[in-house]
Amino acid sequence: MTNVAKSLRERLAATWVIAWPRIHTLQESTDTTVKLLLQYADGALVETVLIPEKDRFTQCLSTQVGCAMGCTFCSTGKMGFLRNLTGGEIAMQVLVARDLLGQQGKGDRLTNLVFMGMGEPLMNWPEVKRSMEILHSEHGLNFSRRKITLSTCGIKKGLQEFAKHGLALPAISLHAPTQELRKQIMPGAARLPLDELMALLESYPLQPRERVTIEYILLGGVNDTPQHARQLVKLLARLKCKVNLIAFNPGPGIPYKSPTREAVLAFEQILWDKGMTCILRKSKGQDIAAACGQLRAKADRSGS
Ligand code: SF4
Repeated sequence: MTNVAKSLRERLAATWVIAWPRIHTLQESTDTTVKLLLQYADGALVETVLIPEKDRFTQCLSTQVGCAMGCTFCSTGKMGFLRNLTGGEIAMQVLVARDLLGQQGKGDRLTNLVFMGMGEPLMNWPEVKRSMEILHSEHGLNFSRRKITLSTCGIKKGLQEFAKHGLALPAISLHAPTQELRKQIMPGAARLPLDELMALLESYPLQPRERVTIEYILLGGVNDTPQHARQLVKLLARLKCKVNLIAFNPGPGIPYKSPTREAVLAFEQILWDKGMTCILRKSKGQDIAAACGQLRAKADRSGS
């Protein structure tokens, strides 16, 4: 920055660090999803995923190194919790991705961000908020609220704070229609009882055309029966929401299997028949373990 005074440059250099994470590993799926393993200055590793959608990209961001919530279907949960990322470290994932796309002449095609990668964002809310402020600011990356989604398994205090700031749209990792089943497959998240979570969501301040996104991973033989679908309809009856159904992606050491095609279609049909908006999400990046629940930052031995 030779256009600022030398004394200011010295002061800036003494106070601030400009250090992007380095791309440790880049993997590209046959469906063109790209997964980056990023390494920060202290050696911490996280994954971020670029998901292609027609002529644009959505980036899935990580907020923690590992995660303490211990959801039983999730590879990140298996890692345990190592540390929180800072707001700058989270925002830098976007800079790295934009730079990478820019090298292919696609820098302006990164249009949507989802806080849905490694970590529970609301367990690191102060830093996630800082990253969102950077991402929103017209002096920063200039993403609008409508283009950012924060996915959480439901942390009471974090949800209340998040609702106050309105920096992004909420998505809830629900994955079970009853407290009992949720406790079994999401023991950390189930510390907030399901009825309290629903009450918080029903009072969430939304703009007229906005809705809460409900994420539901279908685990073969566990939460994918017609009875579960009917329980889900009942649970969500009062909530302004849309449901994303995702068929589980098997991962090493995860004790679940994919649902059958028939079970997925029957589940979806019950939701539609009851007048719910429901989208069957196509899993992307499965062959490079970049799909939902598969992120697990791990360097191979050739890495440094
Ligand atoms: S699903 Fe989300 S909250 Fe649950 S263990 Fe995985 S990263 Fe953590």
